[in-house]
Amino acid sequence: MERIHLKELIRDVPDFPKPGIVFKDITPLLRDAGGLSLSIEYLTSPFISDDVDVITGAESRGFIFGAAVARNLSAGFVPIRKPGKLPCSVEKREYQLEYGMDAMEIHSDSINKGDRVLLVDDVLATGGTMSACIELVKGLGGEVVGAAFLIELKDLGGRDKLGDIPIHSVLTY
Ligand code: AMP
Repeated sequence: MERIHLKELIRDVPDFPKPGIVFKDITPLLRDAGGLSLSIEYLTSPFISDDVDVITGAESRGFIFGAAVARNLSAGFVPIRKPGKLPCSVEKREYQLEYGMDAMEIHSDSINKGDRVLLVDDVLATGGTMSACIELVKGLGGEVVGAAFLIELKDLGGRDKLGDIPIHSVLTY
């Protein structure tokens, strides 16, 4: 399957969850055995020689790809979650949404100083979510190896918010 065919497995849903947003629905891609497998391969391959210790995934679709990439790289997986979901001591970062604020949390003991960390999510839009995740990982002493996304929405300029870390997007729009 060619890279271009992955786009055929992603469905545009206008005005979801709010008017004016075109939601990239990846559930058809997840349902397709070849599409799922190829997506995970493409997310993994740029980082195969990077000696990654830990993958983080942002709730919730980042969990699906993050855990699979972790398995491929023989790395561990750390979830970064919406507030109030993680049961032990957490670090928290707030970030700006289009309207209002949101926040993400990570277990304080989940990253060791010097761990080489690759951050994974499904979509890079404005970059707010990923920059909060990067701050959380760096705050715990992790060394950020890069960020990997299935989809990058270029017009929203998220890449510019992430500093100089290597960014890899499988599909761009
Ligand atoms: P942002 O913080 O703006 O980069 O948004 C990234 C997060 O919001 C990702 O975790 C995505 O799952 C979700 N997201 C943002 N925009 C979209 C979109 N158009 N379609 C699907 N998911 C989106």
